[in-house]
Amino acid sequence: MGIRLLLIEDEQAIGDFIARGLREEGFNVEWATDGDAGGHHLTTGTWDVILLDWWLPGVDGLTLLRKFRQSGRDTPVLFLTARDAVSDRVRGLDSGADDYLCKPFAFEELLARVRALARRPSVIANTVVAHTDVHFDLATHRVERAGKKLDLTAKEEALLLFFLRHPDEVLSRTRIYEQVWDERYDGLSNTLEVHVVSLRKKLEVNGGRLIHTVRGRGYYFGEEMT
Ligand code: CA
Repeated sequence: MGIRLLLIEDEQAIGDFIARGLREEGFNVEWATDGDAGGHHLTTGTWDVILLDWWLPGVDGLTLLRKFRQSGRDTPVLFLTARDAVSDRVRGLDSGADDYLCKPFAFEELLARVRALARRPSVIANTVVAHTDVHFDLATHRVERAGKKLDLTAKEEALLLFFLRHPDEVLSRTRIYEQVWDERYDGLSNTLEVHVVSLRKKLEVNGGRLIHTVRGRGYYFGEEMT
């Protein structure tokens, strides 16, 4: 499913430029536009490389980075900053960044740095993505609910992984379809619904409903909304 990259950047033009460029290069990019959303993605997702801006609304990049490292994770982080003072670079690296890039930068340079970080041997101990009692081990592709193994097709796995990475969030059909199938959603095909129904059934063998239909809006993965 390609290299999973989390971009945390509040400036629309820069974020758009980075996200679009990296997607064209085949990266799977999730873009958070403030520190709070970034923090949420850092704690709930599994990433291969993280691009982190220093100045963000909400929690700033340096704080996010420190917390992320304190939680024991060592995913490579490329720090993006408008600051080019030596002391600031040192602060970024001291806080656990693997590399930094000062704005403005050329896309080619960003791409070269990201590729270098993505090639590093992965030392991530925890390859499990989990929500409620569902566990997905990315290394072995073993999926469990309440400790019992589920047999999923490749597409159901991809769909479940997308849900697990976006728990407690209403997800539109367009967004799910375009991310999981990597095709434009025409709103006519029922492929997505068919897969949701089969995945839901398999999950419900060992527990209550986790994939909820939100009328007119899409789906929601998690405990029942109250
Ligand atoms: Ca910023």
